Amino acid sequence: MIRADASAGLLMDVPFLPSPHHDLRPSGVVPDLIVVHGISLPPGEFGGAWIDDLFLGRLDASAHPYFAAIAHLRVSAHLLIRRDGAVTQYVPFALRAWHAGASSFAARAGCNDFSIGIELEGTDEIPYTEAQYAALAEVIVALRVAYPSLRAIAGHADIAPGRKTDPGASFDWMRLEALLQHETIAMQRGIGDARLMLTLA
Ligand SMILES: [Zn+2]
Repeated sequence: MIRADASAGLLMDVPFLPSPHHDLRPSGVVPDLIVVHGISLPPGEFGGAWIDDLFLGRLDASAHPYFAAIAHLRVSAHLLIRRDGAVTQYVPFALRAWHAGASSFAARAGCNDFSIGIELEGTDEIPYTEAQYAALAEVIVALRVAYPSLRAIAGHADIAPGRKTDPGASFDWMRLEALLQHETIAMQRGIGDARLMLTLA
């Protein structure tokens, strides 16, 4: 059972690797949105410490041809859920992680200000694992207990359409909805399968 310590802004009993890629949320802003992402490094390959390294600002640009183009990026997420469901935290929830980029949700721009970013190790094409859905649902429930302000879950593609595609068609929103059935949820359907999101009531 995953639980969040709201005063520390950390999940309990989860490895915390502090990322330098963060800053303060705007004064008085509490997170109300969970943004689900997909990431794999190199693309399509799973395992290894490359995602940790990217978020910690220490990715070796020479380790893979793809890394040269991204090693300079100053990006992070609050959490990563690996293929086996293992969770890692990089930024405390009270702070702003740098995961969304240019984005908007419900007519508000700059989703990093008011969101918690969760990366799933995966791609737009390869189905995410059962362990990842289970861990994601557990994390969402724990976050909702610690942060009752959380009201919605969206994919990165939903808040940055045309620019981002993750977590992709491989992410099964219905499956997440089923796992969260004890939460009060209304699913909102947008344009096409990629634009599904969950509203928590
Ligand atoms: Zn993303």
